[in-house]
Amino acid sequence: MFDDIYMSFRTSIARIKPVSRAGDYCPFCDRKSIYEEGKVIREEHPFMLVENKFQTLEHAYQMVLIESETCDNDLSNYNKEHLHRLLQFGVRCWQEIEESGEYSSVVFFKNHGVHSGGSVFHPHMQIVGLNTIDYTKHVYPHHFVGLVIDEKEGVQFSLSRYPRSGFTEFNIVLRDFSMLSYMADYIQVAVHFLLNHMNKKYQSYNIFFYRLEDGIAAKVILRAPGSPYLMGYSIVQVPDNQQEIIDRVQSLYFSTSFGENTT
Ligand SMILES: [Zn+2]
Repeated sequence: MFDDIYMSFRTSIARIKPVSRAGDYCPFCDRKSIYEEGKVIREEHPFMLVENKFQTLEHAYQMVLIESETCDNDLSNYNKEHLHRLLQFGVRCWQEIEESGEYSSVVFFKNHGVHSGGSVFHPHMQIVGLNTIDYTKHVYPHHFVGLVIDEKEGVQFSLSRYPRSGFTEFNIVLRDFSMLSYMADYIQVAVHFLLNHMNKKYQSYNIFFYRLEDGIAAKVILRAPGSPYLMGYSIVQVPDNQQEIIDRVQSLYFSTSFGENTT
């Protein structure tokens, strides 16, 4: 019953799964062992899509996308070339796995920080094929409606008016795949803003990707301890200072007022 939203979680596997923090031995930095003991699904140096050794979900196939060769890196400070290639690689892998037809749907997301649900410190993303669940049934167009921060033809960056989980959610909606690099830039701005300005305290965020009828979308979500209204009642809180947040992001990252139009 209700098996379109409930997934069985294998507690015995979760128990043996490593939890790494900065400075620990990192299984994702140790590429030699990955080649020897792991299963590499796709590779485009320095990116790797590998089988997750710890398949904690039943009726699913979990993969890990390793984003960099070392731990001391984060999406907020990747150079443009690395950032753009990463998103191209990730979106292509995601799409190819969807097109294999083996899964009911395929989720693609990133956890960062202790409040995001992640357990390994090394920068990585996850691609998970879900055998029976179609996540798109729980995704609605209004989730991507927002106050526009910036846009180019075919790609829009906004602050969600109707967040899925409350508080600050940035939307990046892509309808023209030739604009994927701009999508990557917008994602980086949102992540940088959360880590350096808005969520300094918890240093946590998620990026979730969604397949839409006419493109794809990403949400960059600030993570902090969960809201009791959401946990207990599925009531979503929306901050009343959204315009202020937009003004801050625009002036920090998109301002053209300096040195221009000063005549
Ligand atoms: Zn590492």
